[in-house]
Amino acid sequence: QETIDKIAAGEVVERPSSVVKELVENAIDAKATAVTVEIKEGGISFIRITDNGCGIEKKQVPIAFLRHSTSKIRSVEDLLSIHSLGFRGEALSSIAAVAQVELITKTYEELTGTRYVIEGSKEIENEEIGAPEGTTFIVRNLFYNVPARRKFLKTAQTEAGYISDLMERMALSHPDVSFKFINNGQTKLHTSGNGNEKDLIYHIYGRDITSAVLKVEHETELFKLRGFIGKPMISRGNRNYENYFINGRYIKSALIAKSIEEAYKGFMMQHQYPFCVLYFEMDSELLDVNVHPTKMELRFSQNEEIYHSLFEIIRDTISHRDFIPEV
Ligand code: ADP
Ligand code: MG
Repeated sequence: QETIDKIAAGEVVERPSSVVKELVENAIDAKATAVTVEIKEGGISFIRITDNGCGIEKKQVPIAFLRHSTSKIRSVEDLLSIHSLGFRGEALSSIAAVAQVELITKTYEELTGTRYVIEGSKEIENEEIGAPEGTTFIVRNLFYNVPARRKFLKTAQTEAGYISDLMERMALSHPDVSFKFINNGQTKLHTSGNGNEKDLIYHIYGRDITSAVLKVEHETELFKLRGFIGKPMISRGNRNYENYFINGRYIKSALIAKSIEEAYKGFMMQHQYPFCVLYFEMDSELLDVNVHPTKMELRFSQNEEIYHSLFEIIRDTISHRDFIPEV
């Protein structure tokens, strides 16, 4: 079982940012309104995630670390209408298989909290303690028992960069949640959680970008779209200024990227990419989020239609105003 857990972990936990992603998604699923992420050494030696969500009941704690244990779906049919971010029940078991994990959690109803320690899938401690409502996960020494994987991690600075990017996207995807990100004792991001998307863009990208964004608001037969697009940017990493969220989930989609990039054609120079923060709402029956364990690459059941409607919307928005010079 231990070996199986370690192998399964490889699919979900690739690097420190995957741990952060899974745990932050859990916090959001737990209805937290404030989430603090603190890392040291790029998250390799230390990640602490604190939320003020619903907490985990004492008797559910050990169960939550079992593989395929989820409180979020009850049947196969549920898979087709996924509203929560997590649903596979793989994250906690995978993380606990390849790191030293400490959990402190308390629900609203229970009088005391639980402190639970699990290392390499082995339970080390399970005790009753006083704790505030909500959940704190501390993940230490990722891949301490899988040296082959640890070797493939990048420098602490690069890993911290991935987490920083992720936190920005988490913040953008949940404007009504206050996020704090602390790297080696320094606060790098602290959003208000006031729900205002433009405030968030300002906070994350600064005045220059924010002053030049255009609002997008549109409804088609297949989806509702709102958000902002802006001047093409020289990309920092790979497409770092393109942010798409579908039903509250940050996703990558070659189809959406292509459609938007095509719409920007003629308005972009080489090495530039569109700036966008776009929120799609669509019927979850049109989506397949169950493609990959990390749930990032999304598939649609109506590719052509989505591609063309999106292209038209972006093209219209860009060409009806003259904020982007023709190249
Ligand atoms: P999934 O999110 O797919 O259900 P996970 O392995 O990520 O699976 O989590 C297992 C279970 O642990 C969740 O279904 C949830 O009940 C519980 N859980 C995990 N993190 C939290 C949290 N921060 N607050 C409340 N419950 C949590
Ligand atoms: Mg989860």
